[in-house]
Amino acid sequence: MTVAFPPPRLLIGGRWLDAEAGSIPVINPSDGEEFTRIARGEARDIDTAVRAARAAMAGPWGRMPALERGRLLMKLARAVQDNQDTLTRLEAMDTGKPLKQAKADIVALARYFEYYGGAADKVHGDTVPYLDGYTVMTFWEALGVTAHIIPWNYPAQILGRSLGAALAMGNAAVVKPAEDACLSVLKVGELALEVGFPEGSVNIVTGYGEEAGAALAAHPGIDHISFTGSPETGALVQAAAAKNNRPVTMELGGKSPQVVFADADIDAALPFLVGAIIQNAGQTCSAGSRLLVERGAYDRVMEKVSQRFSTLQVGSSDMDLDLGPVINKQQKQRVESYLDRAKKDGLKAVAQGSMAPNAPTGGYYVLPTLVGDVPPQHVLAQEEVFGPVLAATPFRDESEALSIANGTEYGLVASVWTNDGARQLRMARGLKAGQVFVNNYGAGGGVELPFGGVKRSGFGREKGFEALHGFAALKTVAVKHG
Ligand code: NAD
Repeated sequence: MTVAFPPPRLLIGGRWLDAEAGSIPVINPSDGEEFTRIARGEARDIDTAVRAARAAMAGPWGRMPALERGRLLMKLARAVQDNQDTLTRLEAMDTGKPLKQAKADIVALARYFEYYGGAADKVHGDTVPYLDGYTVMTFWEALGVTAHIIPWNYPAQILGRSLGAALAMGNAAVVKPAEDACLSVLKVGELALEVGFPEGSVNIVTGYGEEAGAALAAHPGIDHISFTGSPETGALVQAAAAKNNRPVTMELGGKSPQVVFADADIDAALPFLVGAIIQNAGQTCSAGSRLLVERGAYDRVMEKVSQRFSTLQVGSSDMDLDLGPVINKQQKQRVESYLDRAKKDGLKAVAQGSMAPNAPTGGYYVLPTLVGDVPPQHVLAQEEVFGPVLAATPFRDESEALSIANGTEYGLVASVWTNDGARQLRMARGLKAGQVFVNNYGAGGGVELPFGGVKRSGFGREKGFEALHGFAALKTVAVKHG
């Protein structure tokens, strides 16, 4: 199937515009070759987009009833489903992820629009019992213009969860996808116009983070920023937003533990223990990058996980194997530098996957690697590698498991594997994370499940019904009637 790439243009005010600064090459991580270009938006384009969004809030979009907004989102969900093959190909080529993963991401994208389309007219306020002679009520109102800064690892899914909730609440959006992968986002822009989103309600400005991203974060005309990306960039975005006293949602990194007790069903756990780190070549905020195993079961678990790792194959997105490449050359070097450091410090790579023999040359491939007996304070157990590297560490008992699991700067997700019901609950309550999974990992993606971090993993929640409140302001109206 040949795919038409979106033109290198910006979606602003319902029209596709050229960027004065020109365009940026788009590289296929599977072979390192340029295959199309995107527009290089910058501060002046961001300014035009924010004005267009403001105008939309003052026009038909700002007056559209929640029911109609919901119907438009439902139409967008159907348009995504009708264009599933194209979107899947774009996402796979752009990010390097295997086709099956890209397809799952597009299925989730449609589901986000469907979920938030259905929710749009179900967010309502309250009445508050108050003093004699008063009636008090609350309303959830749109914030105004929302900014959405999206990373390259799951462009489609992260667009869906953030844009879907913002539009459902009646905001007008300016989206800044990542320069490394944004074709699916542009395609969604095309579909949004086709299904009838009014001009200026959805604006997309591609470009570099330091140019378009920084300009968006600092723009005084926006009312909220939803940022998903690294903690370092998140801090820059927060500082920019603070200058204008604007609220932010921060969806940042993770170093998520998978905690396995000796009584767990290891065979049932095995596909998750491996899948949670190799999905998207380990470039997942919620990757299960630490494997903590009760000492009595450590050798047994490591043997099984090693066997799995040694069967894993890496190849291009089209080959649709266990893993694709990582996103770019710097990311490959970053992951390899962590492996070099581990080796230098005497840590052992217990098992590694292999390259598929006919994988294209020039791609940014990294072999999935299981590293054993990693001390909890080692960088490999503390820092987000963002690659297919699993750091395994034994623990003595429940209390040590908790202390190691909670002993990083991050707190995004965690999983615990045990058949002891009381321990499941103790661990679930004790783990410092935004989501805890018991005897599973990720619960199948869970569009409906509120998601977000504690500690350095961020704050605010996206996904689920809860996210809608994050894109709205609660207004209290007190009427004195005597
Ligand atoms: P990144 O921080 O480099 O980039 C994220 C986005 O910010 C991109 O669109 C980029 O262009 C933009 N950006 C860069 N500099 C900017 C600046 N100065 N001002 C404003 N915007 C700027 O992150 P990444 O490398 O694209 O993504 C990887 C990181 O994202 C990892 O740390 C990962 O854990 C995290 N992540 C978190 C979640 C979550 O939901 N918690 C989901 C996916 C990824």
